[in-house]
Amino acid sequence: MATPRKLRCTVSEILDHGDRVYTLRLKPEFPAPRFTAGQFLHLAIDPYDPSAFWPDSRVFSVASPPDQRDGLEILYSVVGRFTSRMEAELRVGSEVWAKLPYGEFVVAALPGTEAALLAGGTGVSAFTAFLRGYAACGGDDGSRVHLFYGARHPGLLLFRGLLQRLALARPTLRATFFAESGAAPGQGVEPGRLSLAAAWSALQRPAAATYYLSGPPAMIRGLGAELAARGIPPERIRVDAWD
Ligand SMILES: Cc1cc2nc3c(=O)[nH]c(=O)nc-3n(C[C@H](O)[C@H](O)[C@H](O)COP(=O)(O)OP(=O)(O)OC[C@H]3O[C@@H](n4cnc5c(N)ncnc54)[C@H](O)[C@@H]3O)c2cc1C
Repeated sequence: MATPRKLRCTVSEILDHGDRVYTLRLKPEFPAPRFTAGQFLHLAIDPYDPSAFWPDSRVFSVASPPDQRDGLEILYSVVGRFTSRMEAELRVGSEVWAKLPYGEFVVAALPGTEAALLAGGTGVSAFTAFLRGYAACGGDDGSRVHLFYGARHPGLLLFRGLLQRLALARPTLRATFFAESGAAPGQGVEPGRLSLAAAWSALQRPAAATYYLSGPPAMIRGLGAELAARGIPPERIRVDAWD
């Protein structure tokens, strides 16, 4: 794994998705170190003096692809103190610091295996870089990848268009969307919360699949317990835990 580096970055774009969910695009002063899909960065918004301690920071999955090292993208939702400050203080042109890469949440899509990716809200950002790379490989090598992605309402299903295009580009990839409210017939979004029961019935061999979970702590705990109750061994439940 590359040694983590600290990078001064400029906020180049902020997309407001509503419901206090944002995409933040960062332009690092140097190309970011190599990272792999699923890894995360530490973001600090207070000034950093390299001769002093690293300031207060939070971690965010890198949503942009690993081959795009001159621009980094993260998604965040406002939860507590730090993310409230991000919402209030960050503007295009603001200076922030990022430290990366970190984490070992790597999705393996091997021939003959089925991977179920369960994403809640901004948790999808842990999968987007992997999915872009997987779709770009094309062909059928015997692997199967199924993304199950839930959000509060269809407008918060970020990347939905991109994910649908990726699934069209590689037929071994499927994406199923869920929205807790506002899912109208014909939109391609299942009404209700992302549930294990729905994922289980959509998979080809659910008892043999490997499950990757990314999202808020309550979702991880709930789905993790249900998977264990269905007999999925711990080594086939991979978690990008957010607490
Ligand atoms: C590996 C990893 C990847 C992450 N990736 C992302 C990401 O891509 N986007 C993103 O928005 N966040 C991500 N997080 C969560 C993020 O680092 C912060 O913990 C979160 O944004 C809350 O920070 P805060 O200071 O606003 O809240 P705090 O004041 O630190 O916490 C407030 C309360 O909210 C709880 N809490 C913390 N995180 C969440 C959450 N996500 N959902 C519900 N409750 C929570 C805490 O337990 C605490 O009780 C990731 C966390 C980890 C460990």
